[in-house]
Amino acid sequence: MQKLARQQNRKGSKIGFVPTMGYLHAGHVSLVHEARKRVGKNGFVVVSIYVNPTQFGPNEDLSRYPRDLKRDLTMCRAAGVNVVFTPSDPEMYPGKQENRHCTYVSEECLSRGMEGSSRPTHFRGVTTVVAKLFNLVLPDVAVFGQKDFQQAAVIRRMVRDLNFPIRIVVAPTHREPDGLAMSSRNKYLNPEERAQAVILFHALQAASAGVRKKAVPASQMLKDLSAFITVAPLARLDYIEFFDPETLTPVDKVKPGTQMALAVFFGKTRLIDNARL
Ligand code: AMP
Repeated sequence: MQKLARQQNRKGSKIGFVPTMGYLHAGHVSLVHEARKRVGKNGFVVVSIYVNPTQFGPNEDLSRYPRDLKRDLTMCRAAGVNVVFTPSDPEMYPGKQENRHCTYVSEECLSRGMEGSSRPTHFRGVTTVVAKLFNLVLPDVAVFGQKDFQQAAVIRRMVRDLNFPIRIVVAPTHREPDGLAMSSRNKYLNPEERAQAVILFHALQAASAGVRKKAVPASQMLKDLSAFITVAPLARLDYIEFFDPETLTPVDKVKPGTQMALAVFFGKTRLIDNARL
């Protein structure tokens, strides 16, 4: 991969990169189009498909994460991707079995709350694998989804702090017609759960509507939205946070421009969503 990337560099082609865990959907494809737009028709667009074990906690869905490489490759070809990089675990983490993976990258400011609290080792795995992928793919531009808002913020911070010469682009969240954010994990939902999963989007809309006329104390908003979510009997709220979109610091008053993020369980399936109110 690195050799190929160097060749493209020497030819003067810009490299655009979309890291994914596969089981692709229209949200991923929109990131590919964004990457193409950034590097031009002579640019080189790389998609990686790698279900990275170091970003999964011990009781999470690593072993059952959905995979369909054949379908992914067809989608990538149709979207005009130049190369799909699909490394194996031993290639990415040689010697891990003997405990020989010793170097990790961790961002220690923006990783703390929200996904970082609910999934304590998650971001260390993400920053480690993304740093490795950046060193392999050598991109000029890398595109991430707003759907994983905190992840995008953590990656931006890592790139700034470690001087990666890479432009980070964050693309909008692609949604199903009813508003549910597209996610590979939506496949886990049974029909009843799927119907109720739209509650995440409705909670974001309700919060937006609630702050249109006046600022609302975050504690009040949290109470109201927690009650709102119980309208979906299969939903179990993990967290709702209101914060500054740049610093990710929680705010006391929720108003237009505040970022809201939430995580909700349906059975074992954990869904996340967020929006600028
Ligand atoms: P994943 O395969 O879930 O790790 O996601 C790979 C990339 O796609 C990440 O940058 C995600 O934020 C992004 N992504 C996931 N879902 C969506 C969506 N519905 N719309 C846009 N981007 C998304």
